Formats: sequence, C-alpha cells, structure tokens
Amino acid sequence: MTTPERVAVVGAGVSGIAAALALHRAGCAVEILEREDRIGGRLGLAELGDREVLLGGKNIGRAYSRFRAMLDLLGGTGYEPFGINTSRVVAGRLVSLDSDNRAETMNGILRMCNWRDLAKLDSIARKVKSADTARFLGSDLARKLGRRDDRPLSEHFGRRTTTNFLRPITVRMNGAEPDEAYYGNFATNMGMLIDTFDQPTVGLSALLGRAAELVEIRYRTAVTGISQVNGGVALDLVDPGGRSRQARYDAVAVCTPAYAAAPLLAPLSKALADLVHSVRYFPATVAVVRYTHDVFAADVRAIALDDQPCSNAGSYGKETRNVVRYTFSGIHGRLIDPTEADVLDLVTDTETQLHTHLGVVRQPRTAVAVRHWPQAYCGYLPHYGDFLDALNTAAAPLASIALAGDYLLGGSIEACCRSGETAAAALLSAPVPQGATRCES
Ligand SMILES: Cc1cc2nc3c(=O)[nH]c(=O)nc-3n(C[C@H](O)[C@H](O)[C@H](O)COP(=O)(O)OP(=O)(O)OC[C@H]3O[C@@H](n4cnc5c(N)ncnc54)[C@H](O)[C@@H]3O)c2cc1C
Repeated sequence: MTTPERVAVVGAGVSGIAAALALHRAGCAVEILEREDRIGGRLGLAELGDREVLLGGKNIGRAYSRFRAMLDLLGGTGYEPFGINTSRVVAGRLVSLDSDNRAETMNGILRMCNWRDLAKLDSIARKVKSADTARFLGSDLARKLGRRDDRPLSEHFGRRTTTNFLRPITVRMNGAEPDEAYYGNFATNMGMLIDTFDQPTVGLSALLGRAAELVEIRYRTAVTGISQVNGGVALDLVDPGGRSRQARYDAVAVCTPAYAAAPLLAPLSKALADLVHSVRYFPATVAVVRYTHDVFAADVRAIALDDQPCSNAGSYGKETRNVVRYTFSGIHGRLIDPTEADVLDLVTDTETQLHTHLGVVRQPRTAVAVRHWPQAYCGYLPHYGDFLDALNTAAAPLASIALAGDYLLGGSIEACCRSGETAAAALLSAPVPQGATRCES
C-alpha cells in the first residue's frame, strides 16, 4: 500500500488528534470531522466563570509518555502535581490515601483490604510495572488475567477489599461496579493506580487548538456513513448547515467510542459492527462548582462516597481547593437526561455529606459547569483478548480504514493517544511510532 495522501479522521478527541498529528507528520493532508463545536471530546473542555475546566479526563499520569509528547509537539505545557489523595469513611472513620504520605496510606490500605487480597493486588502491580505495555488491553498480562473472566472482579476478592478498595477504582475509571468489571481488564486500572498524576498548567483548549494550525478541523460535521470506493473511502457527512453530502478520501481513521463507530461500520461489515456494538459503556455526570472559600484541606482533597448518586467529590487541583468536582457515576449515580437544576440539587445533597464528613461550612456557589455523558466510560467485556482478536480478524479486510478509541487499548488518555497513533501507523503501513503499542492481531 502506498502512503495515503488525503485522510479523514472521525472525531476530535484525544484518539483523533493523536491519529491526525501522526498522519500529518507522515506528510498526509488530514481533515478531522467532528460533530461537536469544540475539540477534546471526553476531556470535556468547558468554562467555569473566567477559567477553563475539564469536565471529563483531566489527570495526566507521569507514565503518559505519548500524550505528553503530543502536548510537547503542540507547544508544550508545564504540569502541576495532583498526586493521589482520596478518603473514604471506613467503619465511621475517615481513612485517607495520600501519595505524599506513604505511611498513612499503607495504614489506610491495611484497613481497607485483607492480607490475601493485598498479596494478589501487589502481584498484579509488580507485573504491570514490569513492562510498558502491560497496562493496556490486549497485553500478555491482560490476556493471562482474562482467563479468569468467567467470574466478575468482585468474585476474585473478599467483600472488604471489594467494597473499600476496588469499588472506588472501578466506579471512577469505568463507571462500573466491581461485579460489572472483569479481572482481565484490571491491568488497565492497576496501570492508573500505580501512576502519579499531574494536571497541565496551560489551558488544553489553546494547546489542542494548535492542532488546527497543522490539520484542518471541520466542526459541527457529523459522519453518518462510510463506504469503500475504488481503493479509497467515501464518507457521508452532515455539515454545519444540516446539508448531507459525500466526501472522498484515500483513507479514514474512525476515532470515536465503540458505540459511535458501530453504526458507521455496519454497512461495511455487520460482523465487525456487531462486535464493536457489544462493548459496554457506563454513564457519568460531572459538576464543577466554585465556592468563595476552600472546601477541602491540603491533606483531605477528595472523598469517595457509597450508596448515593455522587461517587466522588474532590478539589479541582492540589492548591485549587475552592473549586470542587462532583462525579455522579456507579449504580447509584446513573442519571438519565438530567437537567442542570437536577444535577445541582444532587450537588446540594452532597454538600450536606461534605458538611458531615469534613466539617466544612456551607458556602455560596460563585460559578458552576455541568456535563452529562450517557456513555462516559468504557466498561469493556469479559475475555477481552479474545474480543480484540475477533475484532482484528473482522477489521482486517477493510483496507484504508483503521479504528482507534478507548475500547482498543484502554480508557486512559494515554491509551487513547496510543490507539490513535497505532491507527495512523496502520493506515501508513509504517513502523509503529517509538513507545506506541500496536493493537494485537
Ligand atoms: C468524567 C470522565 C473523567 C475522566 N478522567 C480521566 C482522567 O483523569 N485521566 C484519564 O487518563 N482518563 C480519564 N477519562 C477517560 C478519557 O478522558 C477518555 O477515555 C478519552 O478522552 C477518550 O478519548 P477518545 O478520543 O477516544 O474519545 P472521545 O473523547 O469521546 O472523542 C470522540 C470524538 O468523536 C466525536 N464523534 C463521535 N461520533 C462522531 C461522528 N459520527 N461524526 C463526527 N464526530 C463524531 C465526538 O463528538 C468526540 O469529540 C475520563 C473520562 C470521563 C468521561
């Protein structure tokens, strides 16, 4: 295959931007087609008063080498440490895990988990650390763990560990309860758990917007169909004026979540579309609220809550503790088409919880930003290695079409970035970029 000259990328999220920049670097003329009116997808770029906030993916791990390299390419940013700081109420006491206070964190973990489970978690952590690719779906480790996927994650660990330790992780990273998550995909969670997180100091709107200087981005342009024509690809588009038209490209990278890719793939391969359609997603709603004074303290910056719609409330930054990010997810937080007023009512309930657990005084809100995602987080499937093999077999005959997104290597920003670069490499038939992983076939 020769290098395609004109390539379309569907979606301006992390996967799509990564694919587009890799294709641009290889000399292709790239157009990103994005149905929304701004860049970033589930990073959820939004305004809170006069500052930019992220209502979706926000924390950048130190191990996010490809994503950090991509931001460098776009002009670079500094990072402020976010660390890990989360608390929960265990047997009536607030237990904190804080990456700056290892002794206290070890004590906290000991109160949350039993010894047998700790040994099991430690063994997975060591294996994830041992190879750069082990924390991604389809890795040898994920496949090995996935052999035990006939039972959900909750059945591999004791009740105390599941409730206290695993639930906050699966709800936060997958929107899933531990009995909806699988052992084979837990390497992706562990990869994030053992990482150290920062936040970019430069607004991502401006930084990612620089991609638009390198590649064309067509906003409010929805792709509604893909067909193969004479070795190339034709896309059915609905443009910002609501007009339908067709555009031809040499190749296309479909960089959307699985549920958005499935209908586009259906006319090309029902088998592939059915597989992609089967990937599970779970909803989340996020509210970021600014108050007049700090709500959290330096040593207690977030709290994971049980049995209620708000699964997690935390300060927006290590120092920005008067801005609180409330996440509604997990079985009790699956809101259906909530209005902003509905969400703010739930925020009021959570403020009462914070008052009880942290002893903070209720304060006036000075700005709010709210976003609901009906399908926020990828929850994958059991036996995901087998799923990826079937997907790659079904996708192989589709020349000039490559897939990227959170359902291929994992839901982290880094995994999405790598999947975009891998899709670009597949279209270029070029060696995989240094440090990137290829979706195993
Ligand atoms: C609340 C929340 C918190 C998170 N926190 C973190 C975190 O702290 N750290 C982390 O690493 N990860 C986090 N994540 C995960 C991470 O943000 C996402 O997995 C990642 O941003 C997904 O990127 P993507 O490009 O694959 O998909 P998306 O961001 O969903 O981008 C896909 C784009 O395609 C567009 N699109 C879809 N269909 C079409 C179509 N037919 N035509 C044209 N355009 C289309 C969409 O509008 C969208 O812009 C979080 C996610 C959420 C929801």
